[in-house]
Amino acid sequence: MKIEHALEKENHFELALSGSIDEDAEFNAIPKIQKNLLVVDFSQVTMINSCGIRDWVNWTKTLDSNVQVHIKKCPKFIIDKINILKGFLPAKSLVLSFYTPYYCENCDSEKQYLFERGVHFQEQTADKAAFVDYDLEVLCDQCKTAMSMDVITEKYFNFLGVK
Ligand SMILES: [Zn+2]
Repeated sequence: MKIEHALEKENHFELALSGSIDEDAEFNAIPKIQKNLLVVDFSQVTMINSCGIRDWVNWTKTLDSNVQVHIKKCPKFIIDKINILKGFLPAKSLVLSFYTPYYCENCDSEKQYLFERGVHFQEQTADKAAFVDYDLEVLCDQCKTAMSMDVITEKYFNFLGVK
């Protein structure tokens, strides 16, 4: 794992990780988060294994209790972990954006489409139901045919509380 950047911004701390999050991940190399909001960019992470998950979870437990964690640009394998492991994200975390795989039945192409909170999805809250834009038209880059969502929707969007 590499720390692409760890930047103190005006209102939040921005962290971008890359590569494999495994037994060699050095979360202790990340400076102490002094802001109440931490935004983690997972777009360049290529895999995470069980050691990496353990180290990530342990690291999030070292954050001050008033630090809210927002994660963005999550590849599918990160969303899969969030769906399977309740403790992958600390309480009150938010997923800002994540990739949904699409498949072209016409030419076999695949594409990862970025779903953004408030545009393509919204998690369930006390007064609002969750939603996901299942009817979004994603066109194939190769042949311009409308692509199909390539996930088991009940499983993949489970973390949003979609009924
Ligand atoms: Zn195609």
